[in-house]
Amino acid sequence: MLVAAGPGSTQRPDDFNWTVDGELVSLPIDTCDCPDCGCERAVAGLASCKATTTFTVVDNPILDADDYVAAFSDALKRQGWVQRGDEAVAAQWARKHLRHAARFSPGQTLEVRNGEVRAR
Ligand SMILES: [Zn+2]
Repeated sequence: MLVAAGPGSTQRPDDFNWTVDGELVSLPIDTCDCPDCGCERAVAGLASCKATTTFTVVDNPILDADDYVAAFSDALKRQGWVQRGDEAVAAQWARKHLRHAARFSPGQTLEVRNGEVRAR
């Protein structure tokens, strides 16, 4: 699963990380037009609601795929991204994150650029 990368994962001068190390993250749901914001290249921590430009993959032995989808969906609901009746959309979004994570090795530092998840 995709989680916030720890301190030291930021490598570029314009990187930022305001998340809690290891928390689940969501790819950008919505972005603004401001060129200085950085929201288009940041993921959001599902617990802190704060952003980071770097994240990584972990194999979590405790959280299976169904629990992950439930935790992910609950977080989006708490944050107001999911309205009643849209639970299936949230679950679909969560599963998309699992598919992204499956493409990379645990510990690899990742970024999102132009909507694409890629290794650094
Ligand atoms: Zn923005």
